[in-house]
Amino acid sequence: MRFSNKVDYIEESFLNKWDSDIKYKIAEGGDILQFNLGQPDFACPEFVKEAIIVVNGRDKNNFYNYTGGTDEVRAALADLQKKVSGLEYAKEEIIMTNGAKEALFLAFASILDSGDEVIIIAPYWPTYIEQVRFLGGQPVVVNSKEDFSLDLEAIRKAVDEKTRAIVINNPNNPSGTTYKREDLRKIVELADLNDLVIISDEVYSSTVFDGKKHISIADFPGAKERAVIIDGFSKTLSMTGYRLGYALSSEEIIRNMIKVKSNINGNTNSFFQMVVEEVLLNHFDEYLAFVDMTRNEYFRRRDFLCAGLEDLGIEHKKPEGAFYVFAKIPGKMNMRSKEFTAHLLNETGVAVAPGVFFGENYDDYFRVSFGSSMESLEKGKERIKRAI
Ligand code: PMP
Repeated sequence: MRFSNKVDYIEESFLNKWDSDIKYKIAEGGDILQFNLGQPDFACPEFVKEAIIVVNGRDKNNFYNYTGGTDEVRAALADLQKKVSGLEYAKEEIIMTNGAKEALFLAFASILDSGDEVIIIAPYWPTYIEQVRFLGGQPVVVNSKEDFSLDLEAIRKAVDEKTRAIVINNPNNPSGTTYKREDLRKIVELADLNDLVIISDEVYSSTVFDGKKHISIADFPGAKERAVIIDGFSKTLSMTGYRLGYALSSEEIIRNMIKVKSNINGNTNSFFQMVVEEVLLNHFDEYLAFVDMTRNEYFRRRDFLCAGLEDLGIEHKKPEGAFYVFAKIPGKMNMRSKEFTAHLLNETGVAVAPGVFFGENYDDYFRVSFGSSMESLEKGKERIKRAI
């Protein structure tokens, strides 16, 4: 069978494939602790279950709906943005998507022509690379500085006449870095100067630690017209499987994303749009309390994990946001990242993600997710100690 060049050209999501391999091992009886995926371990909150029951009793919860999202959920989301981040978006400036992943795809699909370059900051979430490639674009990878902050000089140098967009992921997966206001401002200035679109993936916006506040790229004057903010409820409400993401941008960009989406899968699951609408309208305080609870719990886990890695002499930078630690493979192991992660998995049943998934430059790193419980982190520490 012959497949398209486009499909031959991309890789299956490394993280999804690695996770499937691990899940098969678990299904076969493997005693494996999973720290390899961005899966919050919190059960579906009670108020979401209540909202599901309410929506279940509604008529027409099973019908097609507007491609961009139900009017009601977009209005509720606009209200949430205003209350939580002070940002003002009209419902025409919002699109509801099948996870943040689809929002990213629609954004790239709306702006890229064959050969257009997209600057992607490494370490990066690998899906950016494959989506851009699938759409005929050319990823241009720019490494972060040693401390994972933005290397503005290198970014500036990477811009040429073919550059169409830049992807910023703040807080960053895998490094947990949050970017400085001044650096973000410079990115907006650079985009203005070169007429670039900024794809700002902010799916971890509600998980920023140490009393800091998330800074959205949309905070900067003029950014709204050229930035697409990507976010969703996968992480915030621990509902990765329900697939509800969204993008905020100018009406013009959103209209084009809707045009693409209408020919791919039509509206996003209307039942869960209604559930989120119900949550935001009638369980808003519980929603905020849940987000606070999870942030506090991640904070506790972060400190526990970082202290554990320190005990083991494993170099890492304490994450300022998201729920991953990007750590260095101990030099004495003398292993590249795939070899090291296979060793951890096979010898002690600890699943983490190889650094090379997040950029060629990071083959001496591995990523540990602290989406998992304290109890499994405690066990994980003992097992990693044995493995190294
Ligand atoms: N962006 C980043 C940086 C992520 O880590 C993830 C999920 N791991 C996504 C987007 C996709 O999220 P969703 O489940 O909403 O598609």
